[in-house]
This record gives sequence, C-alpha cells and structure tokens, in this order.
Amino acid sequence: MSGQLFNKSQTSRRTFLLRAGLLTAGILLNGCLRKLGGRKADYAHITGNLRGPNAKAGHMLRDKVPLPSPTGTSTVKTLIIGGGISALSAARWLKNNGETDFKVVELEDHAGGNAFFGTNAVSSYPLGAHYITLINNEDKKLIDFLQETQVITHFDDKGLPFYNEYYLCFDPEERLLINGHWQNGIVPDFGVPDADRRQIERFFKMVTQYQQAKGNDGKYAFTIPIDESSADETYRKLDNISFTDYLKAEGFDSPYLLWYLDYSCKDDYGRHAKDVSAWAGLHYFSSRRGKAANAEPNSAITWPEGNGWLMKQLRNQISDHLLTSHMVYSVGLGQNNVQVKVMDLAKGTTSLIIAENVIMASQQFVNQKLLTGITRPGVDYSRMNYAPWLIANITVDKLPSPEKGMVLCWDNVAYGQPSVGYVNANQQDLKLIEEKKVLTYYLPLCDKEPRLSRLTAYSRTYDQWLDIIIPELEQMHPEITPHIEQIDLWLWGHGMISPAVGYIWGETRRQAKEPIADRIFFAHTDLSGISLFEEAFHHGINAAQQVINKYHGA
Ligand SMILES: Cc1cc2nc3c(=O)[nH]c(=O)nc-3n(C[C@H](O)[C@H](O)[C@H](O)COP(=O)(O)OP(=O)(O)OC[C@H]3O[C@@H](n4cnc5c(N)ncnc54)[C@H](O)[C@@H]3O)c2cc1C
Repeated sequence: MSGQLFNKSQTSRRTFLLRAGLLTAGILLNGCLRKLGGRKADYAHITGNLRGPNAKAGHMLRDKVPLPSPTGTSTVKTLIIGGGISALSAARWLKNNGETDFKVVELEDHAGGNAFFGTNAVSSYPLGAHYITLINNEDKKLIDFLQETQVITHFDDKGLPFYNEYYLCFDPEERLLINGHWQNGIVPDFGVPDADRRQIERFFKMVTQYQQAKGNDGKYAFTIPIDESSADETYRKLDNISFTDYLKAEGFDSPYLLWYLDYSCKDDYGRHAKDVSAWAGLHYFSSRRGKAANAEPNSAITWPEGNGWLMKQLRNQISDHLLTSHMVYSVGLGQNNVQVKVMDLAKGTTSLIIAENVIMASQQFVNQKLLTGITRPGVDYSRMNYAPWLIANITVDKLPSPEKGMVLCWDNVAYGQPSVGYVNANQQDLKLIEEKKVLTYYLPLCDKEPRLSRLTAYSRTYDQWLDIIIPELEQMHPEITPHIEQIDLWLWGHGMISPAVGYIWGETRRQAKEPIADRIFFAHTDLSGISLFEEAFHHGINAAQQVINKYHGA
C-alpha cells in the first residue's frame, strides 16, 4: 500500500493545523448487512458481507454463454469500453479536445474499476486503490489535472507545487509492529541488529543512485509512466531476472531487509519478490522524484475513499457520456468501422453499437474474450499474470489501548504477517467523534501461483475469511475482537497485473499496446505491467490522442 520510504520522520504541522483548527472551530462533518449462523462465538456479533466485481457478467464472458441477438443498433464516433481510471481519463481527454461524440460503457453499476470505494455510517473507505504520491514534476499532464482539481493549489516562485493540505496524508503517516513494539515508519528499525541496519542503508543508497541514474538516451532509468524510462540495456536487462535473484547477486541477505523488500512487492504488485522482475522491484523505489513546496519527497496524497476521490473528479467531467451496467461481449471489425455488441445487464437485452473508433480500457484477459475474428500477433495472454486481493473494511468502535510505541497512523503494518497491514480510512476525516474507525485491511493472495490462489479464494466463505483476518488483527491489537462491529469483504479475483520476469520489456506488452486497423486502441494499466493511477491516467490520454490524431494529425 504505502510507498513512503524515505520520509520516516514527519512534522506534525498538518495534523495540528487541520485537526486542532477544525476541532476548535467546532466543525462537525458528518451499507447491506447479514447476521451469520454457525460462526465462532467470538465473532457472532460481527456483521458484514463478501462482495466483489460482477461475477455473473465475468462468467458470461469467460464461458462465452450464448446471448440473444442484438435488437437495436446505434452509432457513435468513439466508444470507450470500461469505466476505470484509464477509461475515464481517455474520456476526459477526448472531451477537452473537442471530441464530444463518445460513450463510455462499464459493466458494473458504477464507474471506478479498482479505484471504486464504499461508504458506511462511520466513513467512506477504499475497496482497492487508496493513494498516490507526489507526482514527478516533469509530468505536466498529470500536474495540470491535479491543479484543475485543486489537489495542487498553486506554485511557489521556483515552480514547485503546493499540494492541498487537506489531501496530503495527515500525520502520523506510517508505523510498523516489530519485536513487540510499534515503531515510526515501515523500514525495520526497532531491535534490528547493526549488521542488518548497514545492509538497509546500503540498499537505500543504491536505490537513491538509481533514482537519479539516466541511460545512454538521456532518459531516467526508472520513471512514471514507465514507457518514458530509458531504453538502455544496462537497466532493461534487469527485467530478465527476479528481484530475489538480483538481491542475492548484490549480496543482500539481511532477513529484515529482505522482509521489507518482499512486503514492498506484495504491497505494490500483489506478489512476492521472487515473482516479480528486478526492474519492477527497483522501480518501486527509484521512479519517484516528485518535489513539493510544502511536503517531504514521497509524501502520500489520500482521501477517506482513497483514489475513489480522484476517480470522481474524472467521472464527473464526463458523466453524461457514461453508461453503467452495460457489458460489452463482442468487438469485431466491420468494413470501415468497429461493431460492438453490448448487453444491458439491468434489462437483459442486447444491442449493436457501430463506432468509428473503439478504446478498449478493459483488462487484457477480458479483451481476449471480446475480440472476435481478430488475432493479435505477438500477444501471449498467458504471460499476463493477475494478482488476486482480498480487501476487508473493518469497522471498530475503538482500538484497544494502550499500545507500545507509536500511535495509530494512516498506514499500519505488522512484521512477518501475510497481509500488508491496514490503512485508517478515517485519517483524512474531519469528524469530531474519533473513536469509531474503518480500517482498510489489504491481503495479497500470493502464496500460490495466481490462478490457484484465485480458485482457492473464490471457494472461501465469509466466515473462513474471518478466520484468516481476525487472528492477524488480534496479533496487532490484542483484545480487538469485541470492538469489531462490521467487516465488509471485497475480493478482487484479477486485482492487478503483476510485473513477472520479462513482462515489462517483453514482446507481449509491446504488442498489446498496438492499435488494430487504426480503429481499435488500447488503454489499461495491463499495458504497463505496473498498476498505478499515474499509469492508468496516461494510458487513457495516449489512446484518446491516437483517436484525435486520426482526424487532426499528430
Ligand atoms: C487491491 C488494490 C490496491 C491498489 N492500490 C493502489 C494504490 O493505492 N494506488 C494506485 O495508484 N493504484 C493502486 N491500485 C492499482 C489500480 O488498479 C490502478 O491505479 C487503476 O485504478 C487501474 O485502472 P484501469 O482503468 O487501468 O483498470 P480497471 O480499474 O481494471 O478498470 C477496467 C474497467 O473495465 C471494466 N470492464 C471490464 N470488462 C468489461 C466489459 N466487457 N464491458 C464493460 N466494461 C468492462 C471493469 O469493470 C473495470 O471497471 C490498486 C489495485 C488493487 C487491486
């Protein structure tokens, strides 16, 4: 979850200004449950549900269930398939460039994809993506969007952005439970022997050098969006070995360091360090160089609903063009157009949409099912690995106290546990009543290969998930169980693409970006191999710009 690696000590200015200021001003800002039988007695009071993306629609596509023939036909200049960040970003770009004849079709009953969120009586909370970090200052298009949405309020006389104090993560930002004590920051420190500390220092020195390193083409070795990274083989060949093998070759063997790096891979990629490439493992630490006038490097920017907030800013600009509960089930080439078959999931009817252009902002494993009569040379879908995730939004009436060490932070992680911890969704909240909280717990399902993990996950019941989550929570917070009121679970079967060895700079990813017949274009974080808001934002713009260039030239 959290990528705040270098700013272990934070000032408490934001918390003080915002919380204290608003509290004294007296500002008060103010789900479907089921009771379960057969539950362990200790959990009997806990309500909640297990949910996820529309599985019925997913199975219709997977099993190619025969659907009724389309009854109506409509036309549109550009059809965007999907309603995640990539799709919404493409839609915004078309609109801002005067291309207003477009539609966005999303199979869920809401836009957002992995950046979707939930809300209950206590707080809004993320169901997937939950933060961004300071943006690299050369990323003009994203900086413009953040300025348009007041995430960046203004610039200082050196051109450094001021980030909105309400959205910079309030202090304290992150803590780690290690050796029976909550320490400040997530890099292991408390009770860590000197020899391990020296390795940790050596690792950070190395990635700081990589952060500034440029290839023989003058480009940064690691950057965001990743396609702007250097083509220099010195760096790209790191995609051909696993992160674990790379660390071994570099002489890193401290269990504390290796735990931390494995946690980081699970956190950002949903996989262990042994299952991602060294290029991806280093990218996590070396691609962010954003500077702000009022925040430390690597500061997190977040909201109670996580990136759902950013999603709404995109969605609200194009909501007139958005059709939810509409599933595309076939995409084929016509004479001079693209023929798209769509099912209205609410009515159960189907129709044909004839478009001049289609932007497929849906996942590649879905595209494989949708593209009818079209082959894509060089695209080997079996090389695309999707990490499954379980997200639990845990509502507590309070956290048991006292705790040893650092107080509750936004990001809270326990050393050596299967999950990557939880974020306090209320951290950015301005309510006076602070005891009740929603804790968003993230469990990457990475101990088996993704397909097996996915199958196992789908077979687990709500109660079986509680048997995994609650013991871990008890280790973090003894006696927490009676304080848990509700646990809402969300299972992402194909949560995010993961950067397996050879994927990022391999043939499949390169070919998957290629348009088909100058009419079908692609936009999705699958095209990066690293699933980040920034990547989605840029894929949307790139695909929309390809459409615009057809009519107005590059
Ligand atoms: C657990 C988790 C945590 C994450 N945390 C972060 C984070 O903190 N920060 C961050 O930057 N990123 C995070 N991410 C990554 C996140 O996935 C990306 O930031 C981004 O939201 C991906 O957007 P997208 O548009 O590329 O894809 P998606 O979100 O996958 O969107 C694809 C959309 O296409 C729709 N679709 C699919 N098939 C069809 C069809 N046949 N017809 C119509 N619509 C269809 C889907 O329903 C979906 O809405 C996280 C991801 C997960 C799973």
